[in-house]
Order: sequence, then C-alpha cells, then structure tokens
Amino acid sequence: MTGTISAAGPAASEARLARVRVTETFLSLQGEAAQVGWPTVFIRLTGCPLRCRWCDTEYSFIGGETTAVGQLVQTVNDYGVRHVCVTGGEPLAQPGCLDLLRGLCDGGFSVSLETSGALDIAGVDPRVSVVMDLKAPGSGETARNRTDNLEHLKPGDQVKFVLSGRADFDWALAWLAGHPLPEGVEALFSPVYGELEPRLLADWIVQARAPVRFQVQLHKLLWGDVPGR
Ligand code: SF4
Repeated sequence: MTGTISAAGPAASEARLARVRVTETFLSLQGEAAQVGWPTVFIRLTGCPLRCRWCDTEYSFIGGETTAVGQLVQTVNDYGVRHVCVTGGEPLAQPGCLDLLRGLCDGGFSVSLETSGALDIAGVDPRVSVVMDLKAPGSGETARNRTDNLEHLKPGDQVKFVLSGRADFDWALAWLAGHPLPEGVEALFSPVYGELEPRLLADWIVQARAPVRFQVQLHKLLWGDVPGR
C-alpha cells in the first residue's frame, strides 16, 4: 500500500465522484518513456477521436465500464505500487480524466499520462508527467497535432514520435528543427511495432546525431502485442 486517498474538502470529494469510462486496469511494467521499467498500474480509458493507421489499442475505442474516480483511486491503491499511468484510447477525450489525474496525485502516486497530442493539455494537473504524441504522417493523423500544447509542457515531460519508416523519421527531425521543445522536455523516437525494424531506426538516429532518445516498447519485447500488458 503506497498511496492514500486524501480528504481535502468538498472540491476533492466532488472530484472523487466524477466518473470516467474505463476499458481496463492492470498491473504491468511501464514499457516506455521516463518511467520505463517500474511496476505500474495502468488505467486505460475508453474512446479515442483519432484513428492512427497503426493503432494497437483499437479494442479501447468502444465499450468499457463507467467508474467513479474515487473507486479507481482505491483500485490503484489496492495494487500496492507507486506508479500509475493513465492511458487510452485518448484519456483527455473524457472530461473526468482531469479529476482522475488530480485524484491520483492527491493519493500520493507517481502519475503519468499518455496522450495523443490532439487535445488541450492545459488543464492537466502539474504533478502529472505528460507523455505527448506528435503524430507523424504514417499515422494518417498529422493534421490533429496541436502545437499550442507545447507551451504547456514542463521539465520532465516528453514528446513521443512513433515512426513507421524513413519518411516519418525525416519528418520528425524537420518538425523538431522548426519547433524547439521547452527546456527539460525530451523527444522520444519509437518504431511502429512490427513495421519499422528497431535497429534501423537506432542506426538512423546515431547517423543523424539526432537530439532524441530511442525507445522500444519494453512490454511488447517481453510479452508481445497483447491486451493487459
Ligand atoms: S491516438 Fe492512440 S488510441 Fe487513438 S487511434 Fe491513435 S494510437 Fe490509437
């Protein structure tokens, strides 16, 4: 038991009553970004307004179960680990997500958010580590990128480019050259699983001396592309 549900007055109580639609909660290892390798509880919220060509969580687009934020915080507490990641789908598509993030932070957890970058992140609790996608052309969703979100990123946050080939790689480098990231914000380059050979992307990054961090999805290396992992 690493977190506690705080009682911080009427506003906090109201937030805990907010509801979100949840596809799944599960315990795994964080496979990506700054928290990689930590045992982590994942809360996958239902629904996404995007349709990335290579999406690996289409099962989260519909269905799910409506759950109160307070109950979810308790569920996370019961898992007994410190790290929790709110993901999707696109979690920010649900207004209750902001209450969920706040409730988890109030509960004493180390909270990260995975978001597509297509929705406004301004209301995200500043205690949350944000991992924000920038959609490359191979996703088919480049037009959804909100560059105004950059001004809301803080040190420790990360932007993630999932790349399906050389054209995406070149696009991402050009994008970064034209959009300097805020101080302390890192760029992650990740290959589309099963589509771009990780070693090829690693070679491109080294050859280009690109100011980015290479990553592969650790959970897929360990367990393959399966839900709940
Ligand atoms: S934003 Fe994420 S969940 Fe939505 S379609 Fe793209 S990859 Fe899938």
